Amino acid sequence: MTDIMLSHLPSGERSKAQKHSDYRSKIVSNYQPLHRELYNLVPRLCFVPSFLKAINENTEDSFRSIISEASPGVFVFDMLLPSFCEMMLAEIDNFEKWVGETKFRIMRPNTMNKYGAVLDDFGLDTMLDKLMECFIRPISKVFFNDVGGATLDSHHGFVVEYGKDRDVDLGFHVDDSEVTLNVCLGNQFVGGELFFRGTRCEKHVNTATKSDEIFDYCHVPGQAVLHRGRHRHGARATTSGHRVNMLLWCRSSSFRELKRLQKDFSSWCGECSCEKRGESTDKYVKALHAPQA
Ligand SMILES: [Zn+2]
Repeated sequence: MTDIMLSHLPSGERSKAQKHSDYRSKIVSNYQPLHRELYNLVPRLCFVPSFLKAINENTEDSFRSIISEASPGVFVFDMLLPSFCEMMLAEIDNFEKWVGETKFRIMRPNTMNKYGAVLDDFGLDTMLDKLMECFIRPISKVFFNDVGGATLDSHHGFVVEYGKDRDVDLGFHVDDSEVTLNVCLGNQFVGGELFFRGTRCEKHVNTATKSDEIFDYCHVPGQAVLHRGRHRHGARATTSGHRVNMLLWCRSSSFRELKRLQKDFSSWCGECSCEKRGESTDKYVKALHAPQA
């Protein structure tokens, strides 16, 4: 399948994709997994019963019964069993031990995190595909239909690590995803809150935050946060302990195609929505900077 896909790419892209495919094969053929059961998604070993029940019922009501919208566009719910979190943490430790022993040069998860690992690169891609298709897409179809939530068709799955000798915090940014799943795996830590500052399209990414868009979230192991990739956010410093979070950036190729032809994103961009309602955002910015009398 990979070979067929590779043959359809332009030559520059092809050699890049080929190199990445070779990189993955090299890891998968040499790395010995610690918990093989993690590599096939077994729902009852991963998820808390309330989450499984809601997914099986697959209705908006069933999702709303377990998910709270902590702030507009930020959905929070209990998801992973403590035993699953422990297994994942042990697997990640095992992978990093292997990387250290073999001196294998691994790619980091994104352009901002210096620590962590891409789960897809050491064999968890099939499991994460199933997680997106059977569990995240049904929820996204209900809550994020305006950004292609119903047509999510690829993912980037990774873990990030914060604490001593790891990343401390993460600056304000948007994700390269339509929908992002962020689940804390553990362990003991202080700080590390996620701060949200409103959803924006490309054109409006640097516009001011409105007061009702300010929201801070404290991580709880096993609990998931689901938000649009374009929801601007960052992570405050993890001041002590060690925190590991699993991220799944879910993408929709059809939404990305459609987006290129659109200019109005008022269904999800806070600024497009203001413009459409005829509210001047300049006035808002000026008001914020008015000199004291
Ligand atoms: Zn906009």
